[in-house]
Amino acid sequence: MLKVLKFGGSSMADAIQYKKVKEIVESDPARRVVVVSAAGKRYKEDHKLTDLLYLCHAHLRYGVSVESVFGMIRDRYLEIKKDLDLKVDIETELDQIRKKMDKGISEEELVSRGEYLSAMLMADYLGFDFVDAAQWLKFRYDGSIDRKASYEALKQAVDGRKAVIPGFYGIMPDGRIKTLSRGGSDITGALAAAALDADVYENWTDVSGILMADPRIVEDPQPIERVTYNELRELSHAGAQVLHEETIYPVRDKNIPLNIRNTNEPDHPGTMVMESFDDAEETEHRFITGIAGKKDYSIVTITKNGLSNAVGELRQILEIFEDHNVSIEYVPSGLDSVSLVMESAQVTACLYSILGELQKKIKPNDIKVTDKIAIVAAVGRKMASRAGVSGKIFARLGEHGISIRMISQGPEELNIIVGVDNKNYANTIRVLYNSFVK
Ligand code: ASP
Repeated sequence: MLKVLKFGGSSMADAIQYKKVKEIVESDPARRVVVVSAAGKRYKEDHKLTDLLYLCHAHLRYGVSVESVFGMIRDRYLEIKKDLDLKVDIETELDQIRKKMDKGISEEELVSRGEYLSAMLMADYLGFDFVDAAQWLKFRYDGSIDRKASYEALKQAVDGRKAVIPGFYGIMPDGRIKTLSRGGSDITGALAAAALDADVYENWTDVSGILMADPRIVEDPQPIERVTYNELRELSHAGAQVLHEETIYPVRDKNIPLNIRNTNEPDHPGTMVMESFDDAEETEHRFITGIAGKKDYSIVTITKNGLSNAVGELRQILEIFEDHNVSIEYVPSGLDSVSLVMESAQVTACLYSILGELQKKIKPNDIKVTDKIAIVAAVGRKMASRAGVSGKIFARLGEHGISIRMISQGPEELNIIVGVDNKNYANTIRVLYNSFVK
């Protein structure tokens, strides 16, 4: 049994957090490979190490002295070393980084040093080997990750040993360091789990799993115990702040369950993400897994007699949007009308040009544009087997005086999406939560 763990910035913020990490790792012999982020915030006004490193590079670029910012970085790491009484020689590492800065270090290399130093410290603290990401996470020249080569390289580098790996970066074919997008250590963890065919990928953060709704809107929402990869995609697409989609692919491809856990509450089971769940395991009585949404959408509704029988007309309509680089998120349709739902920000600049072309090429009876729309999605794998769910959702919203401007339901009945006025956004989420979860 092998578990690959990833600890985010808040779990790596100071010696107190390192101690929690050690306890977690040592409580289970299967926890043998650990991926870490750079030190995160210790308190609200604190700085993330990665942000300080970006700032350092900006100072270098504009010829401003880096001493005070670099001093903060140095102090953070030396303090962790001192508090935990570690031996690893990060002083020399820090000196080398500082020297390289004078010679013109690339931004990506400099910002990657946050994870690099974190991993060195954690490897020493746990008594694990340090395996540099530059040894195995291989990018191609086009910036994509060469998974096959990376997996092979990691297997060889780890070779059954206990290891700590820095997240967030890898290496280009010419030896340059390249970083992933912000928050990318999640992806490193997933790649490591996939490379080593782990039994589970544990992603340790500072919340006890994914919540059923945004805690800024719903008071104390319940955590989601189990969610399928498909549901998670729907939820993040609809606006839930969960892991990046890219995180999911490497582990999903290998059917490795992803468990989101809380370093500050290690006994909480967190959220389990899997391809599917056995019916027997389904203890959950709720049929909604989560609720998410986003504001500021526009709906363009095109009405034309005979639209549903016309061949190729929908394609022509979509092509007009495609030509303007607008991505359409939902396409609810009626017999003689079709609505296209998109983020307003995408369409504001080119709306009149699109409307002009629609008039010319489609010759509709009517075109209507509605904006200031919020999209709210109720996602749940169990909705398909329940009759009347959408009816109940609409009834509850109606009872609360919320008028629904658009409805869309995916063919797999994994979600029901409603469009409401922006001003009703928070209330819609609360009504759905209170009606179906509480
Ligand atoms: N430290 C990097 C960031 O702040 C990557 C990560 O933590 O995942 O974006």
